[in-house]
Amino acid sequence: MKSLGTETAFEVLAKAKALEKKGKDIVHLEIGEPDFDTPKNIKDAAIRAIHDGYTHYVPAAGIPEFRETIARYMSETRKIEVNADEVVVTPGAKPIMFFAILALVDSGDEVLNLNPGFPIYESVINFVGARPIPIPLLEENNFRFDSESIKEKVTDKTKMIVLNSPENPTGGVLTRDDLKTVAESIEDRDDVFVVSDEIYSRIIYEREHESIVSIPGMKERTILLDGFSKTYAMTGWRLGYGVMRKDIAEKITQLMVNSNSCTCAFTQMAGIEALTGPQDASARMVSQFKRRRDVIVSGLNEIEGISCKEPRGAFYVFPNVTGTGMDCRKLSDCLLNEAGVAVLPGTSFGEFGDGYLRLSFANSVENIEKALERMSEAIGSP
Ligand code: PMP
Repeated sequence: MKSLGTETAFEVLAKAKALEKKGKDIVHLEIGEPDFDTPKNIKDAAIRAIHDGYTHYVPAAGIPEFRETIARYMSETRKIEVNADEVVVTPGAKPIMFFAILALVDSGDEVLNLNPGFPIYESVINFVGARPIPIPLLEENNFRFDSESIKEKVTDKTKMIVLNSPENPTGGVLTRDDLKTVAESIEDRDDVFVVSDEIYSRIIYEREHESIVSIPGMKERTILLDGFSKTYAMTGWRLGYGVMRKDIAEKITQLMVNSNSCTCAFTQMAGIEALTGPQDASARMVSQFKRRRDVIVSGLNEIEGISCKEPRGAFYVFPNVTGTGMDCRKLSDCLLNEAGVAVLPGTSFGEFGDGYLRLSFANSVENIEKALERMSEAIGSP
């Protein structure tokens, strides 16, 4: 258990809640969840499903109709053919990262993962006794990786490459050429898998989402992860899925049988409505995120010692705070305790996050402006 890591966002959230209990006013920019309500048509579908009896166990891999809906959605959006037996539904997308690493990676293997990156990957890689090999995402490269560095890092021990685009925490978006480089780097190694975390695929601002599964030959070796938490503001519903080769899907299903039995039945029925019903609420959320992004980026760039690149997707900014002269961990503690702004230090996402903060802008413009004012005061007069 000593090798298992954690997600700092939940720890900072608990600290912030404790301060709030003592009467302190906190602006929450630490946790990655949309502040919007789940669209009404989706909530109604869940309520209908409860009344219709979807309150019992269902197949471990997911309700067949829902798996078919996901397969169709994937076929359309990723421009590949996906069958229902290549889909496994899970309570949130997070179990897919846990199960995929548990199923495919052995002790002593190497796993390439983005750094800074979503911390659960490194946590689980360490947990199974494998070695995380960081792929640095650099600010000067708009938080994309240096293509050549991927090729250099693939060794005989490489078992998996973890991708995430749009990325948490940097908001970086990989291009088709970036993905082609990854595919080329493992062309002659059919024992190497890719986990492609596409949970933010619909929260993208400038261009179309690109997926490595649509590169010829890659579908067979990719475990694609997606879900409902971000796109439909459904974090608390716990609904996600993985798309993968049928034989791997069977093993991941076996892990579901051994852990969760199945995903909640009525949330799956709501998932069908989410994917097949009107998409305007979700589109509105994205345009709101874009507005908030513009407010937070320009506000941060006005604070002395902070410089912030514009994220191209997801709802996080990853400003460089080295100019403040403060360590990012100390700075985030000080912002929480003294200024009442909850943010995360970049180091929560790996060593290459040092010198940065992560702020979620899935919060109202009013709260973002309040946070910016408080940060400006705290940093301007430390
Ligand atoms: N991947 C990434 C990169 C994330 O940021 C998150 C949520 N913070 C998830 C996966 C998991 O989302 P969920 O389990 O809520 O579907």
